[in-house]
Amino acid sequence: LFITLEGGEGSGKTSVIHELGKELEAHGIPYITTREPGGIKIAEKIRETILNPAHTEMDGRTEALLYAAARAQHLAEKVEPALANGITVLCDRFIDSSLAYQGYARGLGINEVLSINLFATAGRFPDLTYYLDIEPEVGLSRIAAGEGREINRLDLEDLSFHYKVKEGYEIVKSMYPERIRSVDASGTREEVAALIRDRLAADLKD
Ligand code: C5P
Ligand code: MG
Repeated sequence: LFITLEGGEGSGKTSVIHELGKELEAHGIPYITTREPGGIKIAEKIRETILNPAHTEMDGRTEALLYAAARAQHLAEKVEPALANGITVLCDRFIDSSLAYQGYARGLGINEVLSINLFATAGRFPDLTYYLDIEPEVGLSRIAAGEGREINRLDLEDLSFHYKVKEGYEIVKSMYPERIRSVDASGTREEVAALIRDRLAADLKD
């Protein structure tokens, strides 16, 4: 199984991925966790380049292509080999991030960004995607409170950008209604953890 986590800034993907891992363990399903952009050496290098707060001149198309390049390498080197060995892959972000952030929020076009990603992924899609749904203000306030991650170039964007990301995700969800499932991520860490574990347990049954 290839399972991805999606959501805006501060939606809690990184902590949720640990909970999903525990649930898979409880079911005796072997798995690895990984993240995008990154997950392997070359893609982590690309991540540093994209997210460097000093790189304010980066063009949107360059950004989209770098994400796609990082994804191609990550798939080839880590995700595909694991799947081929019957190992479930839990990945923090994947193609839907590119469609929502670069395709919609940056205005490059969802279909345009989809087409470069179909090349990058050779058509590989996740089997299941959990979208952690949260109001941008709430997510950003978690980051401001120091929960989660390092400051990056995206933090220079204003609130309206993050609202566009959310709108973008809504559109992407409507494109893939079977695959992408929304999870209310507004609760406490414990509440969201319980919610996501129940959802995965139910989804593993069908
Ligand atoms: O998931 P994480 O917070 O580690 O992602 C790192 C940063 O990369 C975030 O600020 C995220 O918004 C940004 N990003 C992006 N476009 C993507 C994927 C991630 O702007 N396609
Ligand atoms: Mg994270």
